[in-house]
Amino acid sequence: MLFRKEYEKNVKFTFRGGTHLNEHKDTAGLATVRLPEPKTVSIPLSQPIGAHATPVVAVGDRVLVGQVIGVVESGLGCPVHASVSGTVKEIVTKNNAQGVPIRNIVIENDGERTLHESVKAWEKPLEETTPEEIVEIVRQAGISGLGGATFPTYAKLQSAIGKVDTVIINCAECEPYITANHRLLLERSYTVISGLEIVMHALSVNEGIIAVEDNKPDAIALLQKAVEGKPRLRVCVLKTKYPQGDERQIIYAIKRREIPAGKLPADVGCVVINAETSSAICRAFYRGVPLVSRIVTVTGDCIKEPKNVRAPLGASYADLVEFCGGLVKPPKKIVSGGPMMGQAQWDINAPVVKGTSALLFFSEEYDKINTYHSACIHCGNCVAHCPMHLMPNYLTQYAQARQYDEAAKMNVMSCVECGTCTYNCPAGVQIVQYIRVAKGALRMKK
Ligand code: SF4
Ligand code: SF4
Repeated sequence: MLFRKEYEKNVKFTFRGGTHLNEHKDTAGLATVRLPEPKTVSIPLSQPIGAHATPVVAVGDRVLVGQVIGVVESGLGCPVHASVSGTVKEIVTKNNAQGVPIRNIVIENDGERTLHESVKAWEKPLEETTPEEIVEIVRQAGISGLGGATFPTYAKLQSAIGKVDTVIINCAECEPYITANHRLLLERSYTVISGLEIVMHALSVNEGIIAVEDNKPDAIALLQKAVEGKPRLRVCVLKTKYPQGDERQIIYAIKRREIPAGKLPADVGCVVINAETSSAICRAFYRGVPLVSRIVTVTGDCIKEPKNVRAPLGASYADLVEFCGGLVKPPKKIVSGGPMMGQAQWDINAPVVKGTSALLFFSEEYDKINTYHSACIHCGNCVAHCPMHLMPNYLTQYAQARQYDEAAKMNVMSCVECGTCTYNCPAGVQIVQYIRVAKGALRMKK
């Protein structure tokens, strides 16, 4: 009979519903390379989730890497840091990818990468550090969920203290094309594991799980070796299926716990942290480095030399494209994030932000999906694949008829907008877009 750990090495955890996508993980074999110092960076004073920060520097000020340049005076949010050393050139309002005007601090880079004096390791060993101190270190470092949602990590930890028994590091990376987490696991797995141990200490948890999809066998082998001799940690191999990286699906796959509608992972005893976020927590604790850069997968059929690039926050998409050899044909669509849940972009000079896990550049011929639309043919595909067990076909019809209350009765607010229904619809119905309209209308009514 196999012991639990041995048994789990041979099990592939999964969830109900979902779909297997063409992975397109062509950049998985490309080591992460650092972006050459950009001439300027443009750092937004707001991330998608959280309050806007107020600038604490003025035009003409010299700033150093890691220096706080914006603070959140009240509400949910983290400080904003300089990602390069140089001079503040301007503080200007620009529209972000959603068309929302956001103030940006533009810094002219001196190329020297001089660290600010505040960048120093935490003075106490982990065992002597309190949960509150860890939460504050994470807040001061400006760490947000780097999987794409960018929810402030300190708030996630704070709300989970005393409520959870398991910490899961999410290395599923289930969206096609993106390989940033995969490269991180291969190149700096020790930082991911170390971040996990810091979070476990903060939450007084004895079970730490690193969850990886089975399309990353090299990373799985490396992690399994790395956790040998650490009885509180284990590696769980997930079946490759979209949207396995959604925290509801990952918790169900591993722990068989379902999060009730309107509740959070902590309500079922779990906290899920993205792999790169875990690495950022390690860097903040042991080196005092705030979140000033991230790994971005730059790919798509328009990119000459696809790469995994470590870029300072605020570098422009154009800087990354140039570093990747430029465009070989005009892009029809630029996407920040994965092709399923990422956001179409309209400005190649937009800055890399905490949620920019990938930049995808697709030409006309590549972007042919969903060009044919007809009425619903009642095939039931969307229902069969929905990981949230919703009835996307009915939700769409209620949204089309503007019967939003009826959609609410069918749990439209539980939709995680993963796009699996739309992807599997043979009639090309833009299901998730209709659902978004219904959710937006219901939020407005509150
Ligand atoms: S987008 Fe919503 S309705 Fe469609 S499959 Fe995902 S969770 Fe289900
Ligand atoms: S997959 Fe498309 S055609 Fe089939 S039931 Fe759903 S909405 Fe209708």
